[in-house]
Amino acid sequence: MEKALNYKNLRLKIGLELHVQLDTQHKLFCNCSTSMKEKTPTNTVSRKLHPVASEMGGIDAAAEFEYLRDRAFIYQVFNNESCLVELDEEPPHKINPEAFDLALQISLLLNCEIPNEIQIMRKVVIDGSNTSGFQRTAIIGLNGHVVYKGKKIPIAQVSVEEDAAAIVGDENGNVTYRLNRLGIPLVEIGTGVLEGYTPAQIQEIAYLIGVMTRSTGKTKHGIGSIRQDMNVSIKNGPRIEIKGIQELGILSKVIELEVRRQLSEKVKEETRAFNPDGTTKFLRPLPGAERMYPETDLLPISISNEYTDKIRRDLPEPWTRKVERFKVKMKLPEGLATEILNSEYLDLFEEIVDKTKVDPTIVANTFVSILKDLQRREKVEIERIPENRFMELFDALDKKKFVKEAIPQIVKYLATYPQDGVEEALKELNLKPATAGEVKDITKEVLDKSANMPFEKVYGIVMSKVRGRIDAQDVMKVVKGMVKK
Ligand SMILES: [Zn+2]
Repeated sequence: MEKALNYKNLRLKIGLELHVQLDTQHKLFCNCSTSMKEKTPTNTVSRKLHPVASEMGGIDAAAEFEYLRDRAFIYQVFNNESCLVELDEEPPHKINPEAFDLALQISLLLNCEIPNEIQIMRKVVIDGSNTSGFQRTAIIGLNGHVVYKGKKIPIAQVSVEEDAAAIVGDENGNVTYRLNRLGIPLVEIGTGVLEGYTPAQIQEIAYLIGVMTRSTGKTKHGIGSIRQDMNVSIKNGPRIEIKGIQELGILSKVIELEVRRQLSEKVKEETRAFNPDGTTKFLRPLPGAERMYPETDLLPISISNEYTDKIRRDLPEPWTRKVERFKVKMKLPEGLATEILNSEYLDLFEEIVDKTKVDPTIVANTFVSILKDLQRREKVEIERIPENRFMELFDALDKKKFVKEAIPQIVKYLATYPQDGVEEALKELNLKPATAGEVKDITKEVLDKSANMPFEKVYGIVMSKVRGRIDAQDVMKVVKGMVKK
């Protein structure tokens, strides 16, 4: 086994940069959909990019490096998910107000100061992932913090920016990109220098920042929806940038491997790409300071103090607080509380818990495990069920029209017959709750035929007749009282 590292003595310094995709209806600078559902491109367009000197003069070293590779770029075009803006043939439209407000919310949740004027900038990117050769970005928040174990973690800045096109192929110097990801609003969160933390703690801090952005309820889910870049350095060493970490759970391992690499070889400042096994490989020299210049197609945006105050008043409850409320007030186990927070049914869950007296654990469990189980094992098409049916379902459960054991059966019925309501389902499935008297009668019938049948067998037969209509514990009580010892 390798010797454990003493990160304190090594003076480990980390800078984190999180990129979170916002789940807005439209892209940041055009009206295209952000849903990324279209699988087949309608067309492809081929381009070559050239670096241009920025207004400050000189060509950026990182940009020049990409240029020297002299590549051709092929862009896949989509019907509703790309337009002339993505192709750089039409100027950007005004910034999407939904994305702008979400970025403001996130900045305020991270305790940032909001500048009175927002200047949209162009950041030089000529790996082809932006057709224009630059990415539009704007700083929305500055000098914030989050509290981690009683300590203030500095948030240097929060920006809203366009996502880049996703690479789908690289053959003989021809790189293919899909244009549907280009222009999706991202929030970029950069921390200050984090010193005095272990890699495991850094991972928890990254998770905490991610959770704060999720508080808005308007961030995308799934792989690639949160991506991270990171600066890593140790005592007397250069700063190394690692790009494109798509999984939070691997962060501490990436840091440890990078520190070991820096200790074992002579390293120079550079940008490295992340490999799935946690190691990294050289990508390009570090970008210089000439990467940014103002976007001339768009005017600066003024934000009044009144506007910021309004956003501040309407801020969503931070997830850190919400998870505590779920655990303490609703008595959800930790795992279930986190799962329902990450679920697409979060809003519905809260509405149901608010309007009915059903045990929150039953409601959460339905959304995070029963629905998933039915989808996976029985191929039930849950998405066919209209959303208001779930409120109907728990309202009926609240009024004791059926017992909780019947939930899977009813959900399955509702997915099969989406036009039917819960009342019809109960009738069709014959799920009127069974009374203790009914269970007694069935048990008596079984025992009349075979008086010496052992308890387990009697219980099994009775259960098969009343399953889903009465709590199993109640059946057990009745049967136990009637079977001879
Ligand atoms: Zn577009």
